[in-house]
Amino acid sequence: MIPAASFAGKQVSLFGLGGSGIATARALIEGGAQVLAWDDNPDSVAKAAATGIATADLRGADWAKFSAFVLSPGVPLTHPKPHWTVELAKGAGVEIIGDIELFCRERTLGAPTAPFIAITGTNGKSTTTALTAHILKSAGRDTQMGGNIGRAVMTLDPPTPDRHYVVECSSYQIDLAPSINPTAGILLNLTPDHLDRHGTMQHYASIKERLVAGSETAIIGIDDSWCAQIAERLERAGREVIRISKRLPLTDGYFADGTNLMEAVHGRYSKVAFLEGIGSLRGQHNAQNALAAVAACLKVGLDLGEIQSGLESFPGLAHRMEQVGRKDHVLFVNDSKATNADAAAPALSSFPRIYWIAGGLPKEGGIEPLRGFFPRIAKAYLIGEAAPAFSATLGEAVPYEISGTLAAAVAHAAHDAAKDGGGEVVVLLSPACASFDQFKNFEVRGEAFRQAASAIDGVKPIGGAR
Ligand code: ADP
Repeated sequence: MIPAASFAGKQVSLFGLGGSGIATARALIEGGAQVLAWDDNPDSVAKAAATGIATADLRGADWAKFSAFVLSPGVPLTHPKPHWTVELAKGAGVEIIGDIELFCRERTLGAPTAPFIAITGTNGKSTTTALTAHILKSAGRDTQMGGNIGRAVMTLDPPTPDRHYVVECSSYQIDLAPSINPTAGILLNLTPDHLDRHGTMQHYASIKERLVAGSETAIIGIDDSWCAQIAERLERAGREVIRISKRLPLTDGYFADGTNLMEAVHGRYSKVAFLEGIGSLRGQHNAQNALAAVAACLKVGLDLGEIQSGLESFPGLAHRMEQVGRKDHVLFVNDSKATNADAAAPALSSFPRIYWIAGGLPKEGGIEPLRGFFPRIAKAYLIGEAAPAFSATLGEAVPYEISGTLAAAVAHAAHDAAKDGGGEVVVLLSPACASFDQFKNFEVRGEAFRQAASAIDGVKPIGGAR
């Protein structure tokens, strides 16, 4: 745990007592602050109180005495409308911050040169965070990973000059971290997402921009116009910007040429790493993630040999194009995290011949946006409530069956794929749907796929991601 010494002897209010809220409260108390915490959910309040955290309904608190108000990132700061605690804090002129801000202050106080890589973007945050941490760890660096992935940031070990922090930041967390100041800040990409919580795309992008604007070096994926503009703006302001592109040769920066990762310096190119044969980093989207990780690792002093060997041993993340098994020419891939059509597109674009398991609780727009990938689909196996609508979209374009359950879909797809004579094929669960009609969540759905695939005679597990 990182004791939050920056509020020693001060009073701090805190709202949101989920796992990270409790961890943050404990870090503040450990650092010598007096914390008064609350949550709208009585069970969370009871749980926090049981661990010795002082709780009280903040409606009745004297806000004038608080030095800061710590808000959980899950609670609305601005949209759709500010939470009642936010109104109270603003009314009393109390600054509103989150756990990432506390971490930044502790690092600045305790070990300001501790390498700190912060990662954001609409897609690919977790993969890039896990990959960067993995490369650093495999190179023998003292590495802590957390934030929006895995451990809450204040539960990590305290900063020392040699300790590396790799921290995934959601826009909500950045919004609550006004002094975020990473050694390398990564902004992968920006597409409309969570606009219910951010109002406009402009506002959403401006929050993400803050992470790179505060960085010593800003690493920015410039394949979308929002990020390209941010890179321009920061450069004009005299900031150090490293551009990355998953598809364009750049004059300066890092770009992907097929599976080769290239560095460009004033229009001269050299190969810095390659992804050929790395099953956990298939697809153009992963080239973007890998380029960002490579740029960040170079920034903190790794050499190319260390980086390449880290890339090659990356196990990948569970449920994101995760290779779970193989039988002869048939690979089984679990992409259960793909809960809408946009999220399923990267997987469908990464394999040439697919036995595709799709369906669940449908999202607006269905699978129409995926039509461009239909020629890659040898056959579709439809499950859950979305099956009738998806079958109507597939129509004559793709052979399909309505399998109903995931277990039936896996069995039938594996049977058909085994008979395919066209080289390597994939049985892919990339459902383009939420899971809640048949499963508790996408993780449970992904596990069910893994188990069904593993139970097939002759399927050898491919380990790693869990
Ligand atoms: P996040 O943490 O931002 O949600 P993840 O790394 O968990 O992202 O990946 C979630 C899904 O997003 C993946 O399964 C893949 O479909 C897609 N994805 C991953 N990286 C990228 C990227 N760089 N660009 C676009 N889509 C991506």
